[in-house]
Amino acid sequence: MAGLCAAVRARELGAAPVVYEKGTRAGGSMLLSSCVVWRFREWDDFRAECPTGDERLQRVVWERLDDGIAWLESLGAPVVERETGNPRTVGKRFGPGGLTDTLVRGADDVHLREAAVEPQILATGGFQGNEGLVAEHVRPARPLRLRANQWSNGDGLRLAREQGAELSAGMGEFYGRNMPDADFSEADFVPAAQLYGRFARVYNERGEEFFEGDVSWSENDLVQATAKQPGAKAWYVLDDSALAQRVRDRRVVDIVALASTRVDPADLPFAAPAGARVAVRVSPGITHTIGGLRIDEHARVVGADGLYAAGADAGGISTGGYASGLAAALVFGRLAAESALDRL
Ligand SMILES: Cc1cc2nc3c(=O)[nH]c(=O)nc-3n(C[C@H](O)[C@H](O)[C@H](O)COP(=O)(O)OP(=O)(O)OC[C@H]3O[C@@H](n4cnc5c(N)ncnc54)[C@H](O)[C@@H]3O)c2cc1C
Repeated sequence: MAGLCAAVRARELGAAPVVYEKGTRAGGSMLLSSCVVWRFREWDDFRAECPTGDERLQRVVWERLDDGIAWLESLGAPVVERETGNPRTVGKRFGPGGLTDTLVRGADDVHLREAAVEPQILATGGFQGNEGLVAEHVRPARPLRLRANQWSNGDGLRLAREQGAELSAGMGEFYGRNMPDADFSEADFVPAAQLYGRFARVYNERGEEFFEGDVSWSENDLVQATAKQPGAKAWYVLDDSALAQRVRDRRVVDIVALASTRVDPADLPFAAPAGARVAVRVSPGITHTIGGLRIDEHARVVGADGLYAAGADAGGISTGGYASGLAAALVFGRLAAESALDRL
């Protein structure tokens, strides 16, 4: 998302950029995503939801996103929904295939299966695909399953660090979803996500209710806490009222029905609470890292002269919570091109 947006913007400004895409197809995780590009409706809400994020970077995303979305539409990207479905946020849902095609057409010169030798703008999508880097920074209790494209292995981070780049805050944080604790494929990334932890009683393998306080609306705090539990697992235990709740347009009972790891409460490794109807064993899928390279508000990598970064390679924006990764990729991708061409 960030790399293609940077290339399209650079071409609009008269340059002849080349996109080097290591994967076998364009679109990265964006192509696998729900493709809702959004921001918090209120600035104060953004700060409250992501309190340890870099305020200057957050301001840039918040102020420029509406322009960015209008720009995508002006390029011909297909809008599927004009609302996010969440009253606290504004934005649009695009068709990921159509958005990818539109950006590839605008970028014009996209080389697949090739990594750049001396890239100027880094947009490799974070380091979630690199088990070693995840173990070093995120420190999960066991390796996390990948819920993202398979090529984002921290290449941008490594390359910039070799040139003296500084790291952002939040290197231990990630965005993800609790998934059934069993194998899953790309087709399961969205439908199989067990996004109802806020209605469940949540236990670890020892039968401890490990999460204190209210689970956030994105449930990213619960997912990150699960990664630190023994075996990086949790049990969601549901009673009738939890099963009757809705998450977006789906009933909890229907999401649970898709989980191959659901069990009868009598089969839990600890005593089930009264009223329990079903339990689901979950563990996190990692979608993208939240920490990364430290950038300034012009997408310049701090400490590495002449390098720019955008998207999940640029860290510290949604630290402490969760905000749209596509929004940050769009805004800082465009800005990186403008900065690199000295057109701010
Ligand atoms: C299932 C799912 C649902 C999601 N839903 C949403 C949503 O609704 N809203 C939202 O805001 N976000 C969502 N996201 C997150 C969103 O997709 C990411 O935040 C966004 O794609 C990040 O943009 P990026 O450009 O940093 O990375 P990507 O879009 O992943 O692009 C990175 C690209 O870099 C390539 N690459 C890696 N290394 C190299 C290298 N050395 N050389 C060349 N190329 C390389 C990769 O192959 C990839 O194509 C979702 C993600 C997933 C997986």
